Amino acid sequence: MSYQDLLITGGYVVTLDPEIGDVPQGDVLIKNGRIASVGVVSLDEARGAQVIRAEGRLVVPGMVDSHRHVWQGALGGSTGDASLLGYVGRVVEKIAPGFTEDDIYAGTLWGSLQALSSGVTTIADWSHNLQGVGYAAANVRALHDSGIRGIFLYGGPGPDAAAFFGQRQPPQRHPEDARHVRNELFPDGTSGRLRMGMALRGPAFTTPEATVEDFAFARELGLPISVHVGMAGFPDSVETLHRHGLLGPDVNYAHANQLTEREFELLAETGGSIAISATVETLMALGTYPATGSALRHGIPAGLSVDTTTSSGVDLFSEMRMALAAERSRANKQAVARHEAVMDVELDQRDMLHLATTGGARAWHLDDEIGTLTVGKQGDIVVVDMRAPHLDGFGDPVSTMVFGAGPADVETVIVGGEVVKKDGQLVGPYAETARDLMRQSRTRIAERGAA
Ligand SMILES: [Zn+2]
Repeated sequence: MSYQDLLITGGYVVTLDPEIGDVPQGDVLIKNGRIASVGVVSLDEARGAQVIRAEGRLVVPGMVDSHRHVWQGALGGSTGDASLLGYVGRVVEKIAPGFTEDDIYAGTLWGSLQALSSGVTTIADWSHNLQGVGYAAANVRALHDSGIRGIFLYGGPGPDAAAFFGQRQPPQRHPEDARHVRNELFPDGTSGRLRMGMALRGPAFTTPEATVEDFAFARELGLPISVHVGMAGFPDSVETLHRHGLLGPDVNYAHANQLTEREFELLAETGGSIAISATVETLMALGTYPATGSALRHGIPAGLSVDTTTSSGVDLFSEMRMALAAERSRANKQAVARHEAVMDVELDQRDMLHLATTGGARAWHLDDEIGTLTVGKQGDIVVVDMRAPHLDGFGDPVSTMVFGAGPADVETVIVGGEVVKKDGQLVGPYAETARDLMRQSRTRIAERGAA
């Protein structure tokens, strides 16, 4: 793949690279899709590069969403008043089964553009409405067409709504479909900017026996695994995985809200990672608090995530705010109970930006490729316009950004050296048609009487 070289110049560059730190007036040069130079780039070095002026902007690494059901991109806001179980009744039981391959393509393409437009350049797509190989192909094609980097997590032929209500389901036919998808679309585990993994039901949503089989199958295919654990009402999932010897560094755990200290220790010892969805977890009653503090205390790699856009926004700025607010609230709980005021608070906005970038990269073992602005890494870069009144602050610009920025402030988004958002507008080849396809899909969904 070859793209025009890019020079982003004059911005406040937040590299998140521990050796470089911030460069208050810096440049980033991208050559052949990768970061070639960071700091002050000489004219000679940048000769021939397209110039993106970044004065008054923050230049940050592309964000990593560590867990999102991207196929739901056309369903935004449809369960704002629902708990997790309420969502299952509406989305999983009623809307999902009627989805066609065209709906999967439209929802995933729109969902990927929602992420890209808000500065997410890598996404772990937990795809659990695949009713056949054609659905998986449509999903993968939509991810490709959007230009996003990601992990396509194959989740089988449709969600088992019954499993949420205590009827744990035996394995379905998805193993052979998954093998076919891996062989055809990801022959060496990758395809362009995409990799493949397995979205497994895990002990919360199926039997331990089926979980043992599912994990063995994913490992036979050499694919990383993601499961939902620790939601309120679904206890002991990590203990169950441990009893069957299934924990490992190839497993990503979504949510983890109500895990015990022992379960967090098990994740730390076995090298697993956590996807924190602070908005969904607090609004949909998955637990009392997100696992942010526990993950950091135990040294467990953790990233932020939107999870489902039916019950949250589409961006990680909101997730950074929500995760920090929830964690400080949790940490303050004991003092409040003693009627005391605390002097100090822990964690800050920079810690949240780390979770949204380097954390997600580590969680998916992509930290050699993405997460920081480091020479040799992928040219995945976000430029945030800080000149508007709500962002032109006095203190640390990262704090100001995390306090107040949103998708509309994301001016430029670059993935692997390809500009996908420019001057605040998506510019990829599918930016226009995606909206039409999404609207047609919404009409079909409504006509099926599901929404
Ligand atoms: Zn989820």
